[in-house]
Amino acid sequence: MTDCLFCKIVKGEIPSDRVHEDADVIAFRDIAPKAPTHILVIPRRHIPDAHALTDADGDILGKLFAAARRVADDAGLENGYRVVTNIGPESGQTVFHLHFHVLGGRPMSWPPG
Ligand code: AMP
Repeated sequence: MTDCLFCKIVKGEIPSDRVHEDADVIAFRDIAPKAPTHILVIPRRHIPDAHALTDADGDILGKLFAAARRVADDAGLENGYRVVTNIGPESGQTVFHLHFHVLGGRPMSWPPG
């Protein structure tokens, strides 16, 4: 999508601090981190959010979680971390291209606000 911020990051039109990339997935540091480690894992292909996923998306979902595991391992998050995805405005979603937040490096509270 031409007006999608994360599609522009995928294409390199907007700079990002990438920590992982492969044929289907990229991961980069969040510009406004909410934890000592805050990385966004996204598909290169535009998918609006997790609610838009279907049975046909099993392969990309597996790749996204494999990338999340890899960036968490690389960041040394052996004490645990959180993977979060927001769906829709009321959840706090602000960028409508599927992304998983990988947050770690501090204790997390529950439930999330
Ligand atoms: P969400 O609010 O769940 O849609 O998450 C969107 C995330 O994208 C927020 O945590 C933002 O801080 C982050 N973000 C927005 N613009 C950029 C950017 N140019 N580079 C990296 N992260 C960004």
